[in-house]
Amino acid sequence: MLNCIVCGRELDNAKSLLVQSDIFADKKYPVRICECGLATTEIMDDSITKVANDTIYNDVSLRIDIYFHNLRGHFEARYQDTLKLIEKFMPPGKKILEIGSNIGFTLNIAKNNGYNVTGCELNDKCREISKLLWDIPVEKDFFEIKEKYDVIIMCDVLEHLPDPSAALKKIHSLLNDKGLLFIQLPNRQSEFCLKLKEKWPFWCVPDHRFHFTVKSLSALCAKNGFVEKSTRTVGLYTKHFIWKLIYPRRLRKVLLRIMDSILKIGFRKINGLGEEIIQMVAIRG
Ligand SMILES: [Zn+2]
Repeated sequence: MLNCIVCGRELDNAKSLLVQSDIFADKKYPVRICECGLATTEIMDDSITKVANDTIYNDVSLRIDIYFHNLRGHFEARYQDTLKLIEKFMPPGKKILEIGSNIGFTLNIAKNNGYNVTGCELNDKCREISKLLWDIPVEKDFFEIKEKYDVIIMCDVLEHLPDPSAALKKIHSLLNDKGLLFIQLPNRQSEFCLKLKEKWPFWCVPDHRFHFTVKSLSALCAKNGFVEKSTRTVGLYTKHFIWKLIYPRRLRKVLLRIMDSILKIGFRKINGLGEEIIQMVAIRG
């Protein structure tokens, strides 16, 4: 029996979508959608998530390629944008721990903005790169960390974890009193997802175990001792309809590449909660 980790409801008879895996061409996974908003990927064989993880994340050259080629300016802008939101609640000088710090590219930006930074990353090579390029200390497993921090950042991580509740509980113990948690993850209630249904590109099954809405993320945070402070949804400029009007497609691709690298455009922010990515700031209560 599968139960929702947010509200505890049984999911066996919940509404579900059958989603094609983008990693395994021959596999589809049911995603059970709970009334509280949270959707859960139904995984029969747990070892498959390790294979999925290894397939996507072990290739460090791919990560370097993302951050150091065409998308560098774009990612820089996105992260600066994110830091601006964090700065509203926690000024530079404070201690940040980023869980899932990848090669340290984003933490280096936080460091340059005046924060005292530590990373946490399971991938051995990524930890080495962070140290080598930017002299950023990186822990391996955040469940082993004893030190306390003022800010904990989790970008595109929580939806991958087998037990997000246990992770939030541990994070709560790692934060100083009134410490800040920043979470970013895909928005299952984005206009794009509601329109595309099982074709939505961010299901990423079985790698993404859970699929949050603003409401279900907020409820899970509250359940683990956090008080939601600020939430927004942000989208990507590349999804704007205006690009579809540009022909031929090659020209569109070139323009997008120029926009991403030179113009340094980050997130697209609009009012409402219908954009692709949720960004939530919560305080340790
Ligand atoms: Zn639920």
